[in-house]
Order: sequence, then C-alpha cells, then structure tokens
Amino acid sequence: MARRDPVSFLGVEYRALVEAELDWKLRVLEGPSSPRCRVDGSDVIMLCSNNYLSLSNHPRLKQAAIDAVKTHGAGSGSVRPIAGNMDLHLELEERLAVFKGAEASLVYQTGFAANAGLIPQLTDSGDLIVSDELNHGSIIDGVRLSKADRAVYRHSDAAHLEEVLDAAERHTPPYRRILVITDGVFSMDGDIAPLDKVATTARDHGAMVYVDDAHGEGVLGDGGRGIVSHFGLTREEVQVEMGTFSKAFGVVGGHVSGSRDLVDFALNRSRTWLLSGSHPPSVAASCIAAIDVLETEPEHVRNLWSNTEYFRKAVQGMGFDTGSSVTPIVPIMIGDSGDAKKFSRRLFELGVFALPIVFPMVARDRARIRTIMNAALSQSDLDEALAAIERVGKEIDLV
Ligand SMILES: *Cc1c(COP(=O)(O)O)cnc(C)c1O
Repeated sequence: MARRDPVSFLGVEYRALVEAELDWKLRVLEGPSSPRCRVDGSDVIMLCSNNYLSLSNHPRLKQAAIDAVKTHGAGSGSVRPIAGNMDLHLELEERLAVFKGAEASLVYQTGFAANAGLIPQLTDSGDLIVSDELNHGSIIDGVRLSKADRAVYRHSDAAHLEEVLDAAERHTPPYRRILVITDGVFSMDGDIAPLDKVATTARDHGAMVYVDDAHGEGVLGDGGRGIVSHFGLTREEVQVEMGTFSKAFGVVGGHVSGSRDLVDFALNRSRTWLLSGSHPPSVAASCIAAIDVLETEPEHVRNLWSNTEYFRKAVQGMGFDTGSSVTPIVPIMIGDSGDAKKFSRRLFELGVFALPIVFPMVARDRARIRTIMNAALSQSDLDEALAAIERVGKEIDLV
C-alpha cells in the first residue's frame, strides 16, 4: 500500500498561491496606526486602516488601558462564565447598551467570534437563514455552522429579498424561524444596506433581522451610533445589532445589542463566548473610554465626514470612478488586477499606503484601490495623498 504523505500539501498549496499572486505579503507597521505612520521603514500616509476616528491614539483610551493594568492586572484569568467576569466587562456592556439605546448588550472577544458564535444558535434545522450575497466572511462562517437551510438575496436588493421570503412561505413543512442577515456598510464598496426596506420586508414575513454594523459604528447615525440610528429604526424592527470595537472604536472586541432576552440567550448559548477567555481589563477599559469619547467629543465623527466628502469629490474630479461609495470607504476603481497592484505599489513609493482589492475578493474586472478615510487626516495629508493618486493615475493611463 502506498504510504500517505500527510503534510506535503502545505508547501504545494502555498507555492500555488504565490504563483497565482494570491498570497498575502504582510507589511509591518512600526509604531501606532496614525494618519502619518511608519510602514516597512517608510514614512507614509495611512489610507487603509479601519481606525476611522483615530481613537486607538486617543489619550483617554491609552490612559484607561494603563490605569486598568494597574488596578486589574494584565489578563482576566478565565472565561467569563467561570472566573473571568470582571466589573469592567459589565460596565462596558452597560455603557454600550445606553450608547446604542438598547435594553442590553453583550461583549464578545471579537466581532468574528460574535457572528460565528451567535448565528448558529439563533437557527437550527427547520429554520431558514437569508443572507445578502456580499455579507462578510464571519457571517458566512456563522451561517455554515448552523443546520438551518440557507438562501441568498442579490446585493442590497430588497425586492429580491421579498421574492426569497415569499418562496420560503411555501416551504413544507413551514419554517419554524427565519433570520435575515446583512452587513450595515459593505466593506469593499462603502455602500449602505437598505436596512429600512430589509426590516419592513422581514417584518411582513415574520422574520428576525440581524445587522452586522462593523463599518457603520462610529461613522453613521447620531454621534456614530450606527446604522440602526441612521435609519431611525427601533429594536422591534432590528432585533440583533452586532458590531465590533476593532474598527471605529479603535480597540478590539465584538458585541451584540438588543433585548435582555437576546443577551441572556446569547451568553448562555454562544460557544465562542462561553469557551474562550475574556478580554484583558485594559481592553474593556479602553472600550469604555471610546464610548466616553464618542458621547462627549462629536468633532471626530464630523471630521471623518468632512474629510470623506472632500476626498471623494477630489478623486471623482480627477476622473476616477468611486463606485457606489457613500461612506468613508472610498474605492478607486481600476479594473485590471495587475494595474491595481501596480497602482498600490507606486502609491507606496510616493508615501501613500492603500491596498489593492482584487479577485477573488471582488469580481475579476472590478479590481480597485480601497481607501478608507480617517478623522485625523489633516488638509495637507489629504492634499498630498490626492496628488500622489492623480500622479499614479496618469502614469498608468487611467485618468
Ligand atoms: C471586521 C468585520 C468583522 C469582524 O470584526 P472583528 O472584531 O475584527 O473580529 C465582522 N463583520 C464585518 C462586516 C467586518 O467588517
């Protein structure tokens, strides 16, 4: 019998990725994630972090972490259901629920852990999950962990969602529960889900609504309260609001907000929450400080939007297509993957850090440079970045 070689696939498959230029080449940030930062030994303008409000550098967040290390130590010592449930974790959840205008909130280790832990518990066999075709990978993994049936509706197409839900009504035996899931802001295009229409359609079909607002929090709505606030929706209309502290909040951690029942159910059932260590106290303390900042310093969200309007208008004025972007995620459409990679490399040489997004993350002919605006970029940062973008666009004959 031929002997099986158990590990050669690792190198073979990795080299195939390198060959196809689909491997990740990791850049190294040598210092804080700030508008002017040092990457791979070069001083560059950062146009690709999710640190929308630059809160990761805010003195109140940094001091809160230092203080919490002094009072509570470096780690929590356990998972939360056993001995790792600290007063700081509870304070964070209370503050978040007030910020979100929800009855209760639950903090997970990451946003990924929230989606992967909760979605498969909300549904089981005999249920149906209906998902926007462009939903985030952590939602896709959460859906795959569920025994429920699955259906996909065309991106942001509430009319198609309605058709899918109408068809679901005819299923026999009737579905016990139906869960509709969408990203709030889609991270490749910077467009906003039609959550109002999604919620109405779901309500008409007795379906629950789950929104992943990772890119809407700190960006959309009253004082950065997110997409539910943006559309003025209620908790009766959107029952599960999921988010992350790793983006605009500037720290790390996932969360869900909704009814007390949702939180009690989620914490008793999500295995990612029950079986994985809780946040170090410094993380919880910095997240609390981030909420403090959002509640008391409205200028950060204002600056983010004024930078976004200025930058998007300038890029469009050069003749670039920014697709369906209406948020601080501003894709610069290039088309060809090779051109997009070349564009990004040249930008880096000119001191601007922005990543190319290519197939398979987007369609083959829709490669782009994805820029992400930041509240802390100054006028001169923006103008310098824009000059480099125009120069490379001309070099590559795109504008
Ligand atoms: C980033 C992101 C997540 C994951 O959040 P983490 O807290 O970083 O794990 C989930 N959903 C969406 C839409 C995201 O963009």
